[in-house]
Amino acid sequence: MRRICVVGTGYVGLVTGTCFAEQGNQVACVDIDETKIKLLQSGGMPIYEPGLSELVQRNSAMGRLCFTTSYDEGMRDAEFVFIAVNTPPLASDGGADLRYVEAAAKSIAQHLEHDLIIVNKSTVPIGTGDLVAQIVERERKTEAQFAVVSNPEFLREGSAVADCLNPDRVVLGATDRAAGEAVASLYLSLRCPMIITDLATAEMIKYASNAMLAARISFINEMAAICEALGADVKQVALGMGYDKRIGSSFLEAGLGYGGSCFPKDVKALMHMALTQGCHPQLLQAVEDINNDQRRRAVDKVKELLGPLQGKVICLLGLAFKPNTDDMREAASVDIAKMLQAEGAQVKAYDPVSMAVARLFLPDVEYCTNAYEAASGADAVMVVTDWNEFKQLDMRRLKGVMRNPVLVDGRNIYDGNMLRETGFTYRGTGRN
Ligand code: NAD
Repeated sequence: MRRICVVGTGYVGLVTGTCFAEQGNQVACVDIDETKIKLLQSGGMPIYEPGLSELVQRNSAMGRLCFTTSYDEGMRDAEFVFIAVNTPPLASDGGADLRYVEAAAKSIAQHLEHDLIIVNKSTVPIGTGDLVAQIVERERKTEAQFAVVSNPEFLREGSAVADCLNPDRVVLGATDRAAGEAVASLYLSLRCPMIITDLATAEMIKYASNAMLAARISFINEMAAICEALGADVKQVALGMGYDKRIGSSFLEAGLGYGGSCFPKDVKALMHMALTQGCHPQLLQAVEDINNDQRRRAVDKVKELLGPLQGKVICLLGLAFKPNTDDMREAASVDIAKMLQAEGAQVKAYDPVSMAVARLFLPDVEYCTNAYEAASGADAVMVVTDWNEFKQLDMRRLKGVMRNPVLVDGRNIYDGNMLRETGFTYRGTGRN
């Protein structure tokens, strides 16, 4: 049993802290957001993540997991302090906004009473590990010793608990090898490959991984546009490509482009870092440009089928940036709804879990209690998030409530021929 403090109780911090507790460690999660901490203390969940609520309840009940706004309380006797705060993009240049990491480092320094290891889990620009060390060195009030280790996180929202307990690999970056190995010991029971390298390389592995995944998505979306023009089916193309072991089948789903709190900001931040060092990140720029095009291309399809959108009613099925999460950050739905509204359309929507969060991003959308209500009176339905429940809809019933049976399938979840037989005008993404 090790004593661990996790600073930042969001998607990464809450899942990481809970999974460490699940493995028998004593974990305190610290956050500056009082509402979030009160909610967690009273047994509530601030986010939707499959399987997380049960684990939080069980480990809290066992006394292995607690939540606090006090660094003093959270860091008491801790051997490790993980930083898992947000690193959003700066509006000015797309670089990572490090103010939350810096504030966390300062607070850790001010409460440093005994030797410990500071582990950075947030996705941060190369060099931030050294910056955290400098801040703690400058701000600490005692002679207690510390080391900084980079431990980037690779979990995916929607399967975060499973990813955390069964990671493909653990990456550690450290100047002090012993500190790196001490953090590695926390992960031994997971029996996964581990790489211990220097701080900068560990930080870079995270950005390079996300950039690669984003590039695959933009690659297949470019193929989708070409498939549409040439009459090929991108789903079959991806299937045929994926059997090639050198290529693999994951992240080859054409759609509305990547979103969420990571890929968009991490591609931007990597480009920014490259540019400031005089590099020319032309592939990353293309990845981002193609991604931005996906939303517009989907709206163009609706316009092609309906003509001017003024006064038209468009139904969005799904709002979250992907299924099994309530996260709306950089979701395709936000861009699409705004583009539709800018053209004078009325937007109705339904999402199984993200509507409460979506209201903050899209206040002028009419939110409905199910897919049929959302499609009622619509001139077109757009599938924006591929939630499983949309795959099981009664399509005759859906068509029956629409004013105009047009369906633009942004996630290729339906069989176009079957829908056409049902009477829909159907457009997929990269296929007919
Ligand atoms: P989040 O916004 O969900 O949570 C961040 C939390 O940190 C918030 O609760 C916030 O109140 C808290 N916080 C901010 N400043 C603080 C401070 N000074 N002290 C204590 N708490 C503070 O963010 P997230 O999605 O969990 O992401 C965290 C980091 O992990 C980011 O760098 C992100 O890029 C990276 N990451 C995220 C994911 C993901 O899927 N969300 C996956 C891998 C890596």
